[in-house]
This record gives sequence, structure tokens and C-alpha cells, in this order.
Amino acid sequence: MERVDIAIIGTGPAGLEAAITASIRNKKILLFGKKTLSEKIERGHLIRNYLGVPDVSGKELRQRFMDHLNAFGLSITEDRITAVYSMGDYFSLQGSSGMFYEADSVILATGVTSGKTLEGESEYLGNGVSYCATCDAPLYRNKDVAVLCYSKNEESEADFLSEICSSVSLYVQYSDEVDVKDSIEIVNEKPIGVKRENQKTIVSTLSGNSYTYDGVFILRDSVAPSNLVPGLITEGAHVICDRNMKTNIEGCFACGDITGLPYQYIKSAGEGNIAALSACAYLDSKKRINK
Ligand SMILES: Cc1cc2nc3c(=O)[nH]c(=O)nc-3n(C[C@H](O)[C@H](O)[C@H](O)COP(=O)(O)OP(=O)(O)OC[C@H]3O[C@@H](n4cnc5c(N)ncnc54)[C@H](O)[C@@H]3O)c2cc1C
Repeated sequence: MERVDIAIIGTGPAGLEAAITASIRNKKILLFGKKTLSEKIERGHLIRNYLGVPDVSGKELRQRFMDHLNAFGLSITEDRITAVYSMGDYFSLQGSSGMFYEADSVILATGVTSGKTLEGESEYLGNGVSYCATCDAPLYRNKDVAVLCYSKNEESEADFLSEICSSVSLYVQYSDEVDVKDSIEIVNEKPIGVKRENQKTIVSTLSGNSYTYDGVFILRDSVAPSNLVPGLITEGAHVICDRNMKTNIEGCFACGDITGLPYQYIKSAGEGNIAALSACAYLDSKKRINK
């Protein structure tokens, strides 16, 4: 796939505003997230503090955001990004679809991750612990795996794994009704940690039990930023960045809830605007240096 100028991850107000600003500045972008946009937009009951649209419902604000994207001819690539690698002067992004994308710069607008990372999760990521069924399922062909699933959206990934693996145990961590293949074992326990011993991955649960698998898939709508981008400096759930939304990684910017409190629509959109302008300035300066 052709390398773009800016990859923007997240379709909340931060990512959407970054996309609109970047497109006004004639940058080629890829915008990753859900076509239905961030659920947090719709969940706003009555939003009173978004400039220009007093007392707007979340549903109406979402429609206005969609109309704005459409007016600019911007499309959304529906892929959950599971890893962003800095390759020196460009970035490689891995999607849960198994696709890889390339971009000269990246804007992280993934919102704040709910729930803590499990004990051992970061340590064993890539070694018996995976965020991406499509990418890593072949490693577990005819083996026993667990899927720690935090979103109903990810159920299809468990179904897919059940076609390849000997067994799939699904730890359901959401309240919606479960609808997966009959061959999948449902485990009603809360995982608290993962560890690797003797080529096996062990899941420990709040009730004091431990279960052993060949591998474990942890599937959430969003990934902790430090696990998403290796080398990124974070503080708790937040990415450290300066007033220009620059992170410690050259060419990587962050905006919205991911950068810290207050969690507000307008703050997210404002930061999306700054992140896009900073990314444009970065790309322009790179072009001048390479001339
Ligand atoms: C019930 C409720 C009511 C609220 N009311 C108000 C209010 O009245 N006023 C106000 O100002 N604020 C309000 N907020 C806060 C507001 O919703 C957030 O501050 C705002 O949505 C943050 O925008 P964001 O773009 O930073 O992130 P988000 O809106 O969280 O969007 C991030 C998006 O990125 C996606 N994403 C994450 N990781 C990945 C990945 N790896 N690959 C692809 N996509 C990814 C997520 O699925 C999500 O769609 C409310 C929040 C809630 C929950």
C-alpha cells in the first residue's frame, strides 16, 4: 500500500479534527477507527459546552461530525491498529485485519484506555501474548488458546481463532450478550495477570485460579499507548507531549483524552487541530532537509 503523509488513529473528536485540518493542508491521510465514530460521542446525553452547537445531543453531534467528514470527502479505514513501529524516517502500522500500512508521521487520537493493563501483559506481548488474532493465529494452529475479550466487537476474532486452534476459551469481560460459535468455551472469570512458563501462557484470575494455554489473545477496542507504540513515553494511561502535541518520538503526535485531563470534546478537537498542524510542519521541514 502507498505510504501516506499522516496516519491518524482514532475517530473521536481529536482524530476527526486532525483529519479535517490535515486534509485542508493537502496532506494525504489514512484515518483509522470505526465508521460509526467514537462511541463516546453518541453517549453524550446533552452537550452544553461545544462551541457553535449549544445543547446538542451526542447523536446529533455525531451526525454533524459525519457530515463534516463527508463534506471533505474523507473516508475511514475500519481497522484496529495493534502496533505502530518507528522505522527511522517513517512509521509502519499493523492492523488487526493483518494489513500493514506506512506513513511519514502518526497522530495518536485513541482516547483514554479504560481498564488497567494486566500484570505481565506488556512483558509477554509478542511472547505468548498477542493483540491480533489475524496476525498471530497461524502461530497457534491446532493449539489451545484463551481470548480475553473486552468488547463485543471482537467476538468475530474468537470465532476466527476457533477455526484454526484446537480449543478457544473465551473470557467475557463485557456485559452484552455473547454470540459465538458453540465450540468456544465461555469462562466467567476476571483475568488479573498473564505469565509465561515452559512455553505456555498462564492466565491468573481474581478468584485465585490459574489456567494454562499455548497462547493468549487480549482483545480490546483500544490498546494502552505504551504497548501500541514501543518506546513512547507515557505517564499512567496518558502520553507525555508538549504544547505542539509532539511526543518523545520524532514524527509521532498525540491529541485528545490520551494526553490527559480534562476529558472534553472541545479540548480533544482543539488538540487534534494542533497535532495536525504540527505534523504538517514536521513533514514540510523533512521535505526541506531532503531537498
Ligand atoms: C457518557 C459520557 C458523556 C460525556 N459528556 C461530555 C460532555 O457533555 N462534554 C464534553 O466536553 N465531554 C464529554 N464527555 C467526554 C468526551 O466523550 C471525550 O472527552 C471525547 O470523546 C474524547 O475524544 P477523543 O477523540 O480524544 O477520544 P474518543 O472519543 O475516546 O475516541 C477515540 C477513538 O479511537 C478508537 N481507537 C482506540 N484505539 C484504536 C486503535 N488501536 N485503532 C483504531 N481505533 C482506535 C476508539 O475506538 C475510539 O473510537 C463525555 C464522555 C462520556 C463517556
